[in-house]
Amino acid sequence: IYILAIESSCDDTSAAVLCNDVVLSNVVASQKIHELYGGVVPELASRAHQQNIVPVIDQALKQAKVKKEDLQAIAFTRGPGLMGSLLVGTSFAKSLALALDIPLIDVNHMQAHILAHFIKEQEYPVPEFPFLALTISGGHTQIVKVTDYFDMEVIGETIDDAVGEAFDKSAKILGLPYPGGPLIDKYAQHGDPKAFPFPKPKVKELNFSFSGLKTAILYFIQKEVDQNPSFIEEHLHDICASIQYTIVNILVDKLKKAVKHTGIKSIAIGGGVSANSAIRKALKEGEQKYGWQTFIPKFEYTTDNAAMIGIVGYLKYLQQDFSDISIVAKARIKI
Ligand code: ATP
Ligand code: FE
Repeated sequence: IYILAIESSCDDTSAAVLCNDVVLSNVVASQKIHELYGGVVPELASRAHQQNIVPVIDQALKQAKVKKEDLQAIAFTRGPGLMGSLLVGTSFAKSLALALDIPLIDVNHMQAHILAHFIKEQEYPVPEFPFLALTISGGHTQIVKVTDYFDMEVIGETIDDAVGEAFDKSAKILGLPYPGGPLIDKYAQHGDPKAFPFPKPKVKELNFSFSGLKTAILYFIQKEVDQNPSFIEEHLHDICASIQYTIVNILVDKLKKAVKHTGIKSIAIGGGVSANSAIRKALKEGEQKYGWQTFIPKFEYTTDNAAMIGIVGYLKYLQQDFSDISIVAKARIKI
């Protein structure tokens, strides 16, 4: 079956066409405008979605060589995300499903970051149930016990900032543009991860906290820059490597705990931060060190994309789990 999927939860407008679990196209229009403001401006995001949505869907259909009359369902992101952004995708999906008289399928964005692993791709094996999912993105940091496609339990999560925010806010302190996560990753490649030790937070059980790290970095940088105004330029690589090392350590420590707690050694990562090279490396090392089996998604399915919405659409289609046309977007939804 052919499914059109639409993702518009934050600042990327994306459309994908899937034939069953195979992705035929996955078009993403990223919004550059937010770089000027050092973060996503909700009002500008929803306006950009309105401008992008028709051309992005057009392109996804063209690339897939599928006509809209051939579509058998429309999947869309219902939430969580920015209300104004979600509204654009939701309204569009509803109107198109109504016009084509085909089923409408609502998708939870965070489930999609996890179920992206079930997209059929050469060289990317699919995890077996049960597995642990570490979802690390701009808005979330969770360890999820996944027992079946739609049987998921959050067993740990952040009590303040998300990992992506920790990266982006640290980058901002260093004067790097938004989003700074990928830049920290880049500069860290040539730095010493143990140059500047930062404290690790003490958080109970499987939960995370990143706001203290951000403050520690801020005070450290302020103090050093006071003594040497060009401290950041001189030590950028070492600072980035040290920040990244601390964050990855925090994540790996909690994963070790989660494995011990659940007895599940199969770990899949998802969300934008899973693009981070140090996290990928640490997981691979975990295979040797701790006997983990790890699953790292294809790069284009880590950050926000509609292909991951499409795979959830397909899985729900198989269960005939359709949405009513009266469905509304929701800024906050649990997994
Ligand atoms: P959510 O999925 O929680 O709603 P989001 O959709 O905004 O949040 P994603 O698009 O999944 O988040 O991820 C974006 C985040 O990933 C940003 O914080 C960005 O800095 C971070 N990121 C992307 N690439 C890297 C990288 N290589 N290293 C570190 N962080 C990265
Ligand atoms: Fe996301």
